Amino acid sequence: MTCIFCRIIAEDEPAEVVLDTDDVVAFLDTRPVFKGHVLVVPRDHIPTLTELPDALVAPLFTAARSVAAAVREALGAQGSFVAMNNVVSQSVPHLHVHVVPRTKGDGLRGFFWPRVRYAVGEPEEYAARLRAALG
Ligand code: AMP
Repeated sequence: MTCIFCRIIAEDEPAEVVLDTDDVVAFLDTRPVFKGHVLVVPRDHIPTLTELPDALVAPLFTAARSVAAAVREALGAQGSFVAMNNVVSQSVPHLHVHVVPRTKGDGLRGFFWPRVRYAVGEPEEYAARLRAALG
């Protein structure tokens, strides 16, 4: 088994597991953005969000919601940043939801996302293309 997260799920690799259900495991990220940063993963080896079966959408995001509540309740975070890399910037090809505890003034600045501007007419064009794909 080569996937590091599959090995953690199989208990072949150590991890600080914080939540364990029939469908989902959540454990501490070993290189946290902030202490208490959790990764929420499906037990099945599913590479990215678009491959996630319908039956696992609710279990995965219910668990992410519980972890987001827990970082506030247990760690005193004011909030959280919940994110997922898919293919690009994804270093482990086993779907994982990052739940990062956030507190005002913690210094994280939105992951330094660059922003662009739409030209006139482009918002309508982009929205139309997405609406068509979404059916
Ligand atoms: P990403 O770059 O979005 O794919 O996130 C992968 C995350 O997995 C990174 O934040 C790593 O620090 C984390 N990570 C990699 N190996 C382990 C491990 N063995 N246990 C816990 N977290 C890990």
